Amino acid sequence: MRDMAGGPRVLLKRLRELMAEPLEPQDRLDRIVHDIAQNMVAEVCSLYVLRADSVLELYATEGLNPGSVHLAQLRLGQGLVGTIAASARALNLPNAQEHPAFAYLPETGEEIYNSFLGVPVLRAGRTLGVLVVQNRTKRHYREDEVEALETTAMVIAEMIATGDLARLTRPGLELDLRRPVSFKGLSFNEGVGLGHVVLHEPRIVVTNLFNEDSDEEIGRLEKALSSLRLSIDDMLSRREVAFEGEHREVLEAYRMFANDRGWVRRLEEAVRNGLTAEAAVEKVQSDMRARMLHMTDPYLRERMSDFDDLANRLLRQLMGRSPDDIASALPKDAIIVARSMGAAELLDYPRDKLRGLVLEDGTVTSHVVIVARAMGIPVAGQMKGAVSMAENGDAIVVDGDEGSIHLRPQPDLEAAYAEKARFRARRQELYRELRKKPSRTKDGVDIDLMMNAGLAVDLPQLAEAGAGGIGLFRTELQFMVASTFPRAEAQERLYRDVLDAANGKPVTFRTIDIGGDKVLPYFKGAVHEENPALGWRAIRLTLDRPGLLRTQIRALLKAAGGRELRMMLPMVTELGEIAQAREIIDREVRHLSRFAHHLPTSLKLGAMLEVPSLLWQLDELMHAVDFVSVGSNDLFQFVMAADRGNTQLADRFDPLSVPFLRLLKQIADSGKRNHTPVTLCGELAGRPISAMALVGLGYRSISMSPASIGPVKAMLAELPLAELQAFLADNLAGPAANLPMRALLHTFADDRGIPL
Ligand code: PEP
Ligand code: MG
Repeated sequence: MRDMAGGPRVLLKRLRELMAEPLEPQDRLDRIVHDIAQNMVAEVCSLYVLRADSVLELYATEGLNPGSVHLAQLRLGQGLVGTIAASARALNLPNAQEHPAFAYLPETGEEIYNSFLGVPVLRAGRTLGVLVVQNRTKRHYREDEVEALETTAMVIAEMIATGDLARLTRPGLELDLRRPVSFKGLSFNEGVGLGHVVLHEPRIVVTNLFNEDSDEEIGRLEKALSSLRLSIDDMLSRREVAFEGEHREVLEAYRMFANDRGWVRRLEEAVRNGLTAEAAVEKVQSDMRARMLHMTDPYLRERMSDFDDLANRLLRQLMGRSPDDIASALPKDAIIVARSMGAAELLDYPRDKLRGLVLEDGTVTSHVVIVARAMGIPVAGQMKGAVSMAENGDAIVVDGDEGSIHLRPQPDLEAAYAEKARFRARRQELYRELRKKPSRTKDGVDIDLMMNAGLAVDLPQLAEAGAGGIGLFRTELQFMVASTFPRAEAQERLYRDVLDAANGKPVTFRTIDIGGDKVLPYFKGAVHEENPALGWRAIRLTLDRPGLLRTQIRALLKAAGGRELRMMLPMVTELGEIAQAREIIDREVRHLSRFAHHLPTSLKLGAMLEVPSLLWQLDELMHAVDFVSVGSNDLFQFVMAADRGNTQLADRFDPLSVPFLRLLKQIADSGKRNHTPVTLCGELAGRPISAMALVGLGYRSISMSPASIGPVKAMLAELPLAELQAFLADNLAGPAANLPMRALLHTFADDRGIPL
């Protein structure tokens, strides 16, 4: 191969003509490989396409035996072609037969060719095939020749992606592009969602591949690059808290990449070879993505993803696309697939079209996950690689129970999930019928089933789920989804809306519980803590920043004018904290009455029992407040010394164990003795088996996520409470042998037909 006949620009022009001609797909391919061979002065040019069964099939060739087309095959990883596909990297070999991976395919007659250049056919980081040129003479192909073949491969990728080649595929076989893939990650919220992929940051599909004038195109590229750099510099120079810490590191990495000479040079080269600026970005991005998929070092993978994001930004600059265009074209069964996402961004999607959320990052306690849970949509997280494998519009199943997703699922798998979803819907229907029925045990004891909430989106659930009221309103959620501190008026408005929606049913507002895992990016006072769960959070923080607490209390008092106001304090450790908070409340009450404000008709103050120190002053605690609410999520983590967010410890310790159940009973007993109502509002309340145990221990009011109310009510209806009390008394009173309490409770329920 001497100099390219006419160079890459001429070749691209030729390809453009071929793409426009009304040809049968096989004829078009044959002409394309012929023209590439001619242009690159190669004796052979062959195209292998990757099928869904991981086999690379020869689709067209110039120079090899034409009879071997659609017959010659290599497995992924087999031979030079298979190696290129598996590694997504080019191979440039002066003597191919000496390479250890060389596999001889006798049907092709390729033994007479020595030099070999093969490049992966990539689209959005996925390998769709391999394009090869070969020569008899032994030579090393030049850098610009490699570049030219890669550019050509991109055009072919477009042909594969648009389905042009699918018509050449034998029945029963599929191209890899449409291959079903499954990912296993973590469950962030239960439920099953079937629908179609909506990429939160959609990859822009470049359809305009060929440029008319390279110089003009380089100019466009330069302009987009400099405004990209400017926007990054601008973000970095804004000294906003949102851009501090990790976020800042990402931005610094962006800035470094945006100025990276290697990247810019490769972009320019692709444009000089005849691509549009957009297509050049797509090409370089594709190479990057492919490399990223093969990286094992998580740090480097992360940096590569940053690069990927950057390329997306650049594409948007070039094409002038806004995210609004995409939101308006949302399918009615959208499953949002994102690398990560802010809580407020999720709220921008219309709830009635959302069927699920898939995140590459995140944890159960991420704000976006909290919001998704409040919206009742299934969430699967830690799905590494999902974004690059998904295309807008792909069919997808989110299994929030298992923490897995299935992209482009096989029909039988999809049918199985559709059945599962229908089953859940029928069960929900059943629970809806229970809505108006009282929540009462089989032997006639009434139990208050309350719901947990925290955002305006939760409110319709109050009626839908048939809750007795709101047992825990997490006021910090309003703070967490905002980008600055919500103003007093906004707080008051939300509280008023909540009370209006509750329509006389009791609502317990918890004062802001920030700190720990609930971070406000805009809160300037926060310092780095070794142990945030044990740190400056909740009531500790608000007593130190009384302005925050005062504003909130005033908003609550005003919103509850003429009605009952129930407030509770999170993370109380000492009774003195309750006294301090009470002082602030009293002062606010005095202030408002001085200005003749309409005050609440009654004011009840409660404390959350989450910190073990209170366990040894239970009776005093009961006297200090109007009610106590056990926050079993935190109480359990502190009693067991087991971080509630640590997935490695998630199933290690069981709250349904003798010591924890005894402790919960002590609390309920103390409440009864002191005539102080005790309720429980942690996750424990929402599982029928643990709710059963709680009721057996003496709890008569529990608060849970709205979706749990139906199942818990159904459980209660079949529960002979007196029998359960006797059963628990027997098992908890004796010596604390390692009784498998959970299994015993299950047997108790199974024997009596109690649905769990
Ligand atoms: C708890 O700790 O059980 C609780 C209800 O509070 P949160 O989950 O908001 O910390
Ligand atoms: Mg808590």
